[in-house]
Amino acid sequence: LLILFWAPNREAQYMKYKDPEQPISVRIKDLMRRMTLPEKIGQMTQIERGVASAQVMQDYFIGSVLGGGGSVPGPQASPEDWVNMVNGFQKGSLATRLGIPLIYGIDAVHGHNNVYKATIFPHNIGLGATRDPLLVKRIGAATALEVRATGIPYVFAPCVAVCRDPRWGRCYESYGEDHNLVQQMTEIIPGLQGDVPANHSKGVPYVSGKEKVVACAKHFVGDGGTRDGIDENNTIINRHGLLSIHMPPYYNSIIKGVSTVMVSYSSWNGVKMHANADLVTGFLKNTLRFRGFVISDWQGIDRITSPPGANYTYSVQAGINAGIDMVMVPYIYTEFINDLTFLVDNNFIPMSRIDDAVRRILRVKFASGLFENPLADLSLVDQIGKQEHRDLAREAVRKSLVLLKNGKGTNDSLLPLPKKAAKILVSGSHADNLGYQCGGWTIQWQGASGNITVGTTILDAVKSAVDPSTEVIYSENPDGNFVKDSGFSYAIVVVGEPPYAETAGDNTNLTLPDPGPGLIQTVCGATKCVVVIISGRPLVIEPYVTIMDALVAAWLPGTEGQGITDVLFGDYGFTGKLPRTWFKSVDQLPMNVGDKNYYPLFPFGFGLTTEPKVTR
Ligand code: BGC
Repeated sequence: LLILFWAPNREAQYMKYKDPEQPISVRIKDLMRRMTLPEKIGQMTQIERGVASAQVMQDYFIGSVLGGGGSVPGPQASPEDWVNMVNGFQKGSLATRLGIPLIYGIDAVHGHNNVYKATIFPHNIGLGATRDPLLVKRIGAATALEVRATGIPYVFAPCVAVCRDPRWGRCYESYGEDHNLVQQMTEIIPGLQGDVPANHSKGVPYVSGKEKVVACAKHFVGDGGTRDGIDENNTIINRHGLLSIHMPPYYNSIIKGVSTVMVSYSSWNGVKMHANADLVTGFLKNTLRFRGFVISDWQGIDRITSPPGANYTYSVQAGINAGIDMVMVPYIYTEFINDLTFLVDNNFIPMSRIDDAVRRILRVKFASGLFENPLADLSLVDQIGKQEHRDLAREAVRKSLVLLKNGKGTNDSLLPLPKKAAKILVSGSHADNLGYQCGGWTIQWQGASGNITVGTTILDAVKSAVDPSTEVIYSENPDGNFVKDSGFSYAIVVVGEPPYAETAGDNTNLTLPDPGPGLIQTVCGATKCVVVIISGRPLVIEPYVTIMDALVAAWLPGTEGQGITDVLFGDYGFTGKLPRTWFKSVDQLPMNVGDKNYYPLFPFGFGLTTEPKVTR
């Protein structure tokens, strides 16, 4: 009797979608036929961690949460704190009727940069200088491990922007000005997600296991081509230009199985990308056959403003109908959910569009194993900032350095520097500032000054590199007479830009911030000097180059300052090549390799080399 009683019920209990033996397409179909409209719309909704809770996840069937630097779980939170936070939200999702796991996303754009003690790799501009796609792939794999260590399965990276104007505040997030270079660097995607198997269908998302993360190619498309490098602005270019300069990295990303694509805040010839059905649906989904999900940028939908006076409901309609599958709302989720429900109920958005979006989101969730492993794997916590990753970051720093000048005449090169010297000077705003070395997107969105995380400053690195008999004097901004009178063997001057992110970094004059120019004149006028520039882009340096003995572009190297001293002191040679054109003056901008009037200070691809001094 008991068996008879249970039999039909057991049949109903078999949830095919929960069966990992079933093909993903079967699981998606089974799950979707069980889902109500609120459950589907919930999947399309991504909210900020600050408004999320297990209860909210449950009540609204929220499909995704995001959140990086900030007060929760705190700037020095441990991996366990992160795990507890993410698992807490996840438990809410798992407790819903269908138990669809949420996907937590974070900006891990140069390592797991929101997390204290994580390994911070050079920003993309530095990686572009390495010209080493396999190195970048290994960085992707290390980043995936550190991100997974905090229970997070999804990163909003890589940025595959082709930055055409260094005045843009996000230039350092771009691997370079040349699309071929950016295309090569999409090799970070198989590092993050795993290598797609040979028989894998093109366009289908691929994530190979618990130690990998879902990646996101961003920002689709033309983000790096905006007028005068103004962030989120208008990219004015014909279709051929768009397809041949800004689109190519997406071809590679898709071939490499990228699971998600983020839409750009920018417009293309006046049309907001968030409302551009022709490119998002027509080109990305139909022509390129991208089968993962398209995510909006942060409040990207809200910024759809045409026609004049358009309200939020209109924006939701335009964005979803353009082909956006998941919306980074991220705060006003009840309004978003109500509007989207209204739009579907009244046929402003076809049900087929909702189903397409949900199918894509579920495809990524199934492909990445979230249904099988929704909660963090605690055995990974000691991946954060582990020595092997720091060594990899140090290697990346070494390879990212571009030597722009070495010696004032012939046969008087200053580099490599002798480790044994009577007395040396280290100076400059960036010589002993870990936060400055890391740049934006480090612990906080905008980055910060000082000891914001664990790492080695350039000063620390110099002290550990030189011979014990060498006296190292550090003075951030020394007086000229002091430098003259001290009789230094040589000086290392480290100057550059303070950290910034996104629009806050837009800059029309690109001058080397004060007191950098004065310091260079003071120190280099009094002793032999190498100037190391820490910056997210080329800056105006032409007026000061003649006075320097040597000049190194070090970009935004991250936590491993020893990568710089490894090369300055000749344990390794200089090999990096400019990923961007180094202009003379800003009135030349935009100026990119291949342009007709190309008179740079240093051309794209430039970089002197040195031989390692010692055999190791
Ligand atoms: C940026 C994206 C980022 C997102 C989430 C936006 O402001 O444009 O690159 O992924 O915020 O933090």
